[in-house]
Amino acid sequence: MTATARHRHWIDGLDAPPDSGAWLPTLDPVTREPGDEIAAGGAADVDRAVTAAERARRGWAGRSPAGRAAVLHRIADAMEGDAETLMRLERECTGKVPAQLRLEVDMSAQYFRYYAGVVRAAGQGQVIEQGAGTHTYTRHEPYGVVGVITPWNLPLNQACRALAPALAMGNAVVAKPSEFTSVSTLHLARLASRAGLPDGVLNVVTGTGPQAGAALAAHPGVRRLAFTGSVATGRRLAAVAAGRLIPLTLELGGKSPLLVFADADLDRAVAAAVTALAANAGQICSATARLLVEESVHDEVVDRVVAAAEKLQPGVDFGPLITEAQYGKVLGLLADTPGAATGGGPYTEGPAARGLYVRPTVYARVDPGARIAREEVFGPVLVTMPFRDEAEALALANDTEYGLVAAVWSGDLGRGLRLAERIDAGQVAVNGGPLTVETPFGGYKGSGYGREKGLAALHEYAQLKTVSANL
Ligand code: NAD
Repeated sequence: MTATARHRHWIDGLDAPPDSGAWLPTLDPVTREPGDEIAAGGAADVDRAVTAAERARRGWAGRSPAGRAAVLHRIADAMEGDAETLMRLERECTGKVPAQLRLEVDMSAQYFRYYAGVVRAAGQGQVIEQGAGTHTYTRHEPYGVVGVITPWNLPLNQACRALAPALAMGNAVVAKPSEFTSVSTLHLARLASRAGLPDGVLNVVTGTGPQAGAALAAHPGVRRLAFTGSVATGRRLAAVAAGRLIPLTLELGGKSPLLVFADADLDRAVAAAVTALAANAGQICSATARLLVEESVHDEVVDRVVAAAEKLQPGVDFGPLITEAQYGKVLGLLADTPGAATGGGPYTEGPAARGLYVRPTVYARVDPGARIAREEVFGPVLVTMPFRDEAEALALANDTEYGLVAAVWSGDLGRGLRLAERIDAGQVAVNGGPLTVETPFGGYKGSGYGREKGLAALHEYAQLKTVSANL
């Protein structure tokens, strides 16, 4: 593929060229050939976008929740109607396999439907009874302009997860997608405009983190930030937000445990472990990359996971790593960690050898202190550790600086729920319990703070005002 198109920013309802006149390359990770180019944004572009958002925000916030909800439903309709384009744009930057693309586009549209529904009930305040002759009530008010900064692993999904509740609450948004995967977010903004979202309510500025992202976080017109990405960038943005006294949501990394007890439905537990390897090639913050198995069934479970991993086909069951840097990082870590039970490196022949594919990799019985057991790999890599009893399982599960997700598989539901109370993670799935758009999502410990999804996220994008009158 040669560079076929240049994608400009989306500001105030129009395509906007970069002030710098500069463009950034993208890469097709399936072939490692150059893809389209995106605008290299900087402070001047961010300023134009924030100014447009600032102008548009009061009109949007002034609409009734039902009025905003109607637009959000039309955005979801437009996304579903143009799902093929969204899937194609996402595939060109990420190389994802069709089932993964379909899931992400469907989920992305669902955020708009869900928040269109809940804002009509939960966006309302409360009357507080203070006695005769008074009238006291609360209002959920938008912040104004919200900055949304997103990573490259689930680009459309992560953008919509923040955009939908922020817009539902009446905020205007300036989004800065990852420089590796910006085009689906740009197309979403175009669809939203066609669906009736007023000009300036949703703007997308593309570019690198240090140029466009940092300018967005620092802009005085931005009153709240939502960040999904790495711990290092999250820490930097938290410092900026602290200096500016603005709130932010941090959705960071994870090294989540999957606990399998001997009394579990092992077929389903093994399938869940294989999904953690294959889904988005492990590039999911909530991937359960530490497989903790009761000693009596450890080797059986690991043998079955390894056998299933060896059947996974690159380009069919899982995609490539999405960036060249991530590919280099994962391969470096694998090279430093000999002794994989399967995988352990790149493909060396066939079509997958051209792209950024990493062989599904399992390290069995790793030392809990080993680097591979502690660092987030963000690739198709599992480590396993045996445990003797529930207490040891819990200690291993919590032996991480992260706390995003945990999965527990056991035939004893009481044990599952007991562990769910004691595992330090933002969400715990027992026996494959569903985590959906309705369920709040976010981190404990080093996985960040604030919540996306569910009712909780709606209120993240609103500030509460109390009005009290003496009659
Ligand atoms: P990253 O932190 O490098 O980049 C994320 C975004 O921040 C990009 O848009 C980038 O351009 C921008 N950015 C970088 N430096 C910046 C700066 N100085 N100022 C402002 N913006 C800046 O992360 P990544 O490599 O794109 O994503 C991978 C990470 O994201 C993983 O650690 C993963 O666990 C995490 N993640 C978390 C969740 C979650 O919901 N918890 C979801 C997906 C990914």
